[in-house]
Amino acid sequence: MRHEPDCIFCKIISGEISAMTVYESDHVLAFLDVNPIQKGHTLVIPKAHWQSILDIPVAECIDIERTEELMYIVRIAAKAVCMAFADGVNILQATGACAGQTVDHLHFHIVPRCESDESPHIWESGAGKYLDDEERDDYANRISNAMEQIIKEEDLI
Ligand code: 5GP
Ligand code: ZN
Repeated sequence: MRHEPDCIFCKIISGEISAMTVYESDHVLAFLDVNPIQKGHTLVIPKAHWQSILDIPVAECIDIERTEELMYIVRIAAKAVCMAFADGVNILQATGACAGQTVDHLHFHIVPRCESDESPHIWESGAGKYLDDEERDDYANRISNAMEQIIKEEDLI
């Protein structure tokens, strides 16, 4: 399994740095964030060092199975915080420094939310308004074409 000796999360996986683990399997680890947005803020990570969601290998069927397990545990962690104490969750994933990624080991944030929270949105809705319908259509087409191309190239579905 890929391990980067200088990576903080790889060090948590190996036990070199301690963390409050809430779930562990052969391929996935979930633990409390050291600097929580809300109490119970949990991180779910693959044990293999994949830098971001863009770097999940797709060459082998085993990698797909591990991705499915990772996403399954993201769902279970979200259900668990709601069962334990929260009214809802934000699931966040930062890919790239421009998106706020500070740890270069793929991770999903499970942020517990409560009805008593001051503001439901933790991001600004509507800040990315299109100039006109043409610009909106252009964005939709570029994403749609790229998705089609990637799905074709990866040949998995
Ligand atoms: P990012 O900004 O990359 O999306 O999130 C990285 C997260 O990792 C941050 O929320 C930060 O608090 C958390 N984090 C960074 N170092 C450690 C650590 O050593 N232990 C734990 N438990 N969380 C960490
Ligand atoms: Zn790592």
